[in-house]
Amino acid sequence: MRALRLREWKSEPKLVEVAEPTPGPGQVVVRIGGAGACHSDLHLMDEFEPGTVPWNPPFTLGHENAGWVHALGDGVNGLTVGQPVAVFGAWGCGTCARCRVGIDPYCENPAGAPVPGGGGGLGLDGGMATYELVPDARHIVPLPAGLDPVDAAPLTDAGLTPYHAVRRSWPKLPPGSTAVVIGVGGLGHVGVQILKATTATRVIAVDTRADALRLAEECGADGTVTSGETAAEEIRQATGGRGADVVLDFVGVDATLALGAAAARTVGDLTIVGIGGGTLPVSYFSVPYEVSIATTYWGSRPELVEVLDLASRGLIRPKTTTFALDDALDAYRQMRDGTLQGRAVIVP
Ligand SMILES: [Zn+2]
Ligand SMILES: [Zn+2]
Repeated sequence: MRALRLREWKSEPKLVEVAEPTPGPGQVVVRIGGAGACHSDLHLMDEFEPGTVPWNPPFTLGHENAGWVHALGDGVNGLTVGQPVAVFGAWGCGTCARCRVGIDPYCENPAGAPVPGGGGGLGLDGGMATYELVPDARHIVPLPAGLDPVDAAPLTDAGLTPYHAVRRSWPKLPPGSTAVVIGVGGLGHVGVQILKATTATRVIAVDTRADALRLAEECGADGTVTSGETAAEEIRQATGGRGADVVLDFVGVDATLALGAAAARTVGDLTIVGIGGGTLPVSYFSVPYEVSIATTYWGSRPELVEVLDLASRGLIRPKTTTFALDDALDAYRQMRDGTLQGRAVIVP
């Protein structure tokens, strides 16, 4: 079969021929219907070097995947060949306290995982290929009726990651509250939809790009602010001087972190989702009282079930552009150039 493989750090991935996987006991092979292209793949190609993460190429890219069950290993029950499924992408040890509640991205026994801190497309072979080998059937989530694998694929990361960030802040988002979404890209635009679908908060979207702010409005944002010197002041004015109860930063560079801190309300949440590598100096007077600052990484298996339910009922709908496997490098080029509309999904 054909697969888009990262062969070494700091290189462009290449479409090559590899052997079709066969499932061992407890494993599942999925025929891929869609594989989302993620901004973090660019970090893999452009920035990572030996030692940055505890794994190494070669491996097939694609960590947000959905398709159909193709083959079942011995002992796998409850799934049938041909059934449409999503693949939960973070593959932890399965037995530590975090994995037991389905939050494999925070696995506390990475040495016991198939690959430490990764999964398919992140250290092991992912979904930008005809088939993907999933090392444990517990990572397979059946798709609810009415949800196509192409639409489901980006939900496993671009949907799940903002969902987890929003869900943990639900108690701070009653009617009358304000949430700010910084960065309306592949994750941020779904974040706006999730806030509107699961809370009664008012949503203000922030981006530097006019077309991204238009996308935010299409996704239901109540207001938009162009990123820049006056953005924090505009958010304060729009909230009667109080600031935002929850700020979700999907960029994570110095400027957006500073904006988040300046726009947050007392007792609010400032959640850093974007892996922009910025830093935020924190001191007694630098952030409003009782603002909680947290990073999040991906989400849990039960939350993926909830995200898929939201999508199957039409309450969220990520904007996607599909590419054939032959054109996958174009998807990454458009992502680099900032011209991509919504999320790129590779359809092998
Ligand atoms: Zn990702
Ligand atoms: Zn674990």
